[in-house]
Amino acid sequence: MREKQDILSLSLEEIQQAVQELGQPHYRAQQILQWLHRGIKSFDDMTDLPKAFRELLAERFYIVKLQMLDKRTSSAGDATKYLFLLQDRNIIESVVMRYKYGNSLCLSTQVGCRMGCKFCASTIGGLVRNLSAGEMLAQVIEVNKDLEKGGERKVGNIVLMGIGEPLDNYDNTVKFIKMMHYPMGLNMSYRRITLSTCGLVPKMMDLAEEGLPITLSISLHAPNDELRKLIMPVASAYSIDEILKASRYYFKKTGRRVTFEYALISDLNDRERDAIELARRLKGFPCHVNIIPLNNVRGLGYKRSSQATVERFVSLLKSQGIAVTKRRELGLDIEGACGQLRRSYLERVETRQDER
Ligand code: SF4
Repeated sequence: MREKQDILSLSLEEIQQAVQELGQPHYRAQQILQWLHRGIKSFDDMTDLPKAFRELLAERFYIVKLQMLDKRTSSAGDATKYLFLLQDRNIIESVVMRYKYGNSLCLSTQVGCRMGCKFCASTIGGLVRNLSAGEMLAQVIEVNKDLEKGGERKVGNIVLMGIGEPLDNYDNTVKFIKMMHYPMGLNMSYRRITLSTCGLVPKMMDLAEEGLPITLSISLHAPNDELRKLIMPVASAYSIDEILKASRYYFKKTGRRVTFEYALISDLNDRERDAIELARRLKGFPCHVNIIPLNNVRGLGYKRSSQATVERFVSLLKSQGIAVTKRRELGLDIEGACGQLRRSYLERVETRQDER
């Protein structure tokens, strides 16, 4: 017997194909997609489809589900972190960040990550597996439902900056982004989507070729390759020069200026000469620098820079003509950095198992 397929991971074209194979008219695909992206959990509830067709769909497909394991809102109320259990018992997290302009959702694209950045909790257990496009979409759907329940606005922006390297799961990530844009679905403008990468150059070039006007955000975190190699193993594969070249190409293809993320780590990349070197490399480049005070992660041994150092770094970049902002810190008391809540959940489970 044919194995059931996750229908939430299917594109409109793939649903159309399935509808045709099942002998139904073309417009049924749009009806199905509308129900799915609204968050329906069962084919039985697709009330405008003939009953026999719903049964056929249920024989052939399933709808991927996420179970909310935990939800924590910061004391300031500006961020909520969700811990979700996947159907194969893996765990991921998603974070809602509340801004004046609306709610942003930072979501996961993989279970774990194999990039090995030294300051990141998500990579501690390595990569477990890629998420499907449906599992990414399900994070948006579940969080929207929860926000609506609390009388809040739905997710207005998506940031692919949670657990995982989105470009290491390229096909599913691009498929998800296109799905978010369906007018009969969640209808999100591409401009409201940001993809963050540690700098996988060939995939950045592929993404540029897609021509999607999403914001590309690159985790740079160092002004030169030597320093970058100390904290990001990916720097041994791709140099900053190659990243800048790919970023220029991305700008040329999409018209979107890229963002460079720079997490300030005490006594490592936060010196005056680092700011000057960074400014020299980025001068004249259509970009924006986002300074992030590092979130301290237990056991990783890096410390965040002092407030005064952060301010000095930002003003040095500004004085060199670089467009720079300091990211507002949200959810510090809910283990807000990517992978931290999942990590502490897994540690708690491991401790309980050891105690048995
Ligand atoms: S920072 Fe991003 S790319 Fe680096 S290990 Fe963490 S999740 Fe992976």
